Amino acid sequence: MKIISRVSVFPVMPQRITRLYELAFNLWWSWNYTAQELYRTIDSELWDELNHNTVRFLSNVEPAKLEKAAADEEFLKKYDSVLEAFDAYMNPTSTWYKDTYPEYKDKVIAYFSAEFGLHEALPIYSGGLGVLAGDHCKAASDIGLPLVGVGFLYPQGYFIQRINYDGRQEAFYEKIHFSEVPATAAVNAKGEEVVISVDLPGRKVYAKVWKIQVGRVPLYLMDTDVDPNLPSDRDLTARLYGGDHELRIMQEIVLGIGGVRALRALGIAATVYHSNDSHPVFQGLERVRELVQTQGLSFDQAKEAAAASGVFTTHTPVAAGNDVFNHDLVDRYFGSFWPYLGIDRDGFMNLARHDQPWGPGYSMTVLAMRLSNQHNGVSALHGSVSRRMWQWLWPGVDADEVPVDHVTNGIHTQTWLAPELDELYTQYLGADWKERIDDPAMWQAIDKIPDQVLWDIHCRAKKTLIEFLRKRVIQMRVEVGEGTGSVEEAGHIFDENAFTIGFARRFATYKRATLVFRDVARIQKLLGDKKRPVQIVFAGKAHPADEPGKSFIQRVHQISRQEGFEGRIVFLENYDMNMGRYLVQGVDMWLNNPIRPNEASGTSGQKAALNGVPNASILDGWWPEAYNGKNGWAIGEERTYQSQDIQDEADSLALYNLLENDIVPTYFNRDENGLPLGWIKVMKESIKTVAPYFSTRRMLKDYTNKFYISSIKQTLMLSTENYAGAKTLSSWKRAIYDGWNRVAISAKTPAESKLALGQEFKVTAQTFLGQLRPSDVVVEFLMARDDDGNLVNQEIITMELVSGPDQNSLYNYAANVKVSQGGSIVMGVRVLPTHPALTSKHELGLVRWA
Ligand SMILES: *Cc1c(COP(=O)(O)O)cnc(C)c1O
Repeated sequence: MKIISRVSVFPVMPQRITRLYELAFNLWWSWNYTAQELYRTIDSELWDELNHNTVRFLSNVEPAKLEKAAADEEFLKKYDSVLEAFDAYMNPTSTWYKDTYPEYKDKVIAYFSAEFGLHEALPIYSGGLGVLAGDHCKAASDIGLPLVGVGFLYPQGYFIQRINYDGRQEAFYEKIHFSEVPATAAVNAKGEEVVISVDLPGRKVYAKVWKIQVGRVPLYLMDTDVDPNLPSDRDLTARLYGGDHELRIMQEIVLGIGGVRALRALGIAATVYHSNDSHPVFQGLERVRELVQTQGLSFDQAKEAAAASGVFTTHTPVAAGNDVFNHDLVDRYFGSFWPYLGIDRDGFMNLARHDQPWGPGYSMTVLAMRLSNQHNGVSALHGSVSRRMWQWLWPGVDADEVPVDHVTNGIHTQTWLAPELDELYTQYLGADWKERIDDPAMWQAIDKIPDQVLWDIHCRAKKTLIEFLRKRVIQMRVEVGEGTGSVEEAGHIFDENAFTIGFARRFATYKRATLVFRDVARIQKLLGDKKRPVQIVFAGKAHPADEPGKSFIQRVHQISRQEGFEGRIVFLENYDMNMGRYLVQGVDMWLNNPIRPNEASGTSGQKAALNGVPNASILDGWWPEAYNGKNGWAIGEERTYQSQDIQDEADSLALYNLLENDIVPTYFNRDENGLPLGWIKVMKESIKTVAPYFSTRRMLKDYTNKFYISSIKQTLMLSTENYAGAKTLSSWKRAIYDGWNRVAISAKTPAESKLALGQEFKVTAQTFLGQLRPSDVVVEFLMARDDDGNLVNQEIITMELVSGPDQNSLYNYAANVKVSQGGSIVMGVRVLPTHPALTSKHELGLVRWA
């Protein structure tokens, strides 16, 4: 049959439990295990078989089982309590956001992302970026932030991974039927389904908008598999990260430009537009186009207004993660677009120009930096790396002052926490602990948990993982046609008493999954120790086009089948959020050994730590901020190396030494009751120190306090009275750029070469401003300690205008300064443009030093 339509038919639901439908369509259930338990209780086999998809579950469950549940007192009690909790969540009397920023309670934040990792039943994510986006939305819902998500509902999602007999990764795609997932057609105020369109060369492409409800936050996800699109356009959004550059630019046009049109069609007026990585950043261009077309603004004016609303988070220093398109491609796709912006080809290309070895490129990251005033990396270290990487966009500005800030990633606590620990934390942290996750003081109570209790819960989680793992390995071996003996053997692999290390993440090569095998004999000896056995479980997908990544998988798989390693090393195929939960809750330790500083943040280790699973990690990403010497282990030194080989050697030696001399002995050092007291101490320290700060609750508050609120204020300032503020700011910037050439500054600092700590001294400066006015600039005195060539403890003091202009048109500035630190102190004086409507003082990238 040529299928033209598909619907899910649901059995008749007993009236008493009819709200199971409503619950099925709100992903609130995905982070509330008591809600999931309702479905599991009705038919646990079906629940697992359908990958915990509530909607498929309800359309497939036997009516008799629903009837049985509806007549079961025990079930009804749970049902009522879950729905009571759901109703309370959906209609809160107060939320953090509304209590903190009541004046902005209706200002919508549109959060654009190419992927959203919400739950295994919706495979529209590839890895950490997507899971972060999903966790971002869940936490936004928790704190009452008026956020809406914008992205794609890929009908084939990311691929399903199979490992063949030779250990090679094979990619399969399964079509998701949207009638079988918790999505509904998005509708406008009149109740009509929403279809939007964008222009691609020679045609229009249409996309239908779907809605997924994540607690209080709606996600609007587009799909181009609709009439009257051409067959090839219908497949445009079929897969996440599939295809070549051309497919990528088309997808990004639909995501960014189509995404803004979807919001308009739905009647959603957002104030802030947050791009999660650069894929969606054409949304900024579309907003500029709207302002030029409908408000009569010039390109520069429109750009000011659009950038004020823009927040951009960069997620990786790795080149493959930063799209750069060649100009031919951009000509073809935007040649008919830029005239609507009121600029020419050069203006359009220069906006995102980033020269590459192969020629001039159009960089999505550069475009994102230019079309948003707020930028950030995802850990302190990544912020610093990003400031250096993109410093050239602010040519006059010192690396440390480049306006790229950071907000360290976190995880959505309830999504990743084991149910038994959830109950335990409720008992020890208080019934309202989920409202105070980001409060470090609250977590001190973890120390009160009896060691035996925490250890028993951990051991049960480990047992559950091993059962899961055996089932999966049996299934893998059956799939590739292995013999009965080998399948049977899989039922006994892994030992509950062995020290179990987990390593699961995308198999990008910089993550170095095979590092632990650099010295095969040494690791084999460690694993095979009779008294202190060790085992490692691996999982992760390599991008289908990443051959080196795929060969890492093959190597791990082959070692796992090699004599001497069998039963001690396992590679599990098809890593997803479901498997992720088993792993981070059930292993003893989480291993992370990327090439520093390539791991922008990493979040899987945060999930583990929350569950009492300590990390052993290279000091990269989030770990330098978290590691305190007691809550896990740091592999190697906080440094980078010239040669990859030398770095691999140094890091692997550090890892072996740690395992042999510290980690494994600590784990097996038991008291008379069989408890590893030293290890449990690390577990508790890990929970206490990681759970509060590395939560999305803390992260969302940071995004709000640092970026969203200032973006709202800036947007309001620039847009009121027909964008008067944007017009003023843009003509002011033009005048500054025109006049800056003539600006000059000279200064006098203390003549003495020695000063006493606490001594006061006077600094003076003279500026020549040409056609600029004193109110256009700020003159600053800077002082820092020179620590072997690194400037630390920098102080910036604004100097006062004391007189001017004199007969030579000079202005005099002065400041009284106190020496506040010892050592070799360096000083400087500079003049910068300043304006109240700037988001960052370095927005123009103009500085003149004396
Ligand atoms: C958390 C998570 C990731 C990210 O892991 P990193 O260690 O941060 O790379 C990737 N995939 C899945 C399924 C996850 O749950």
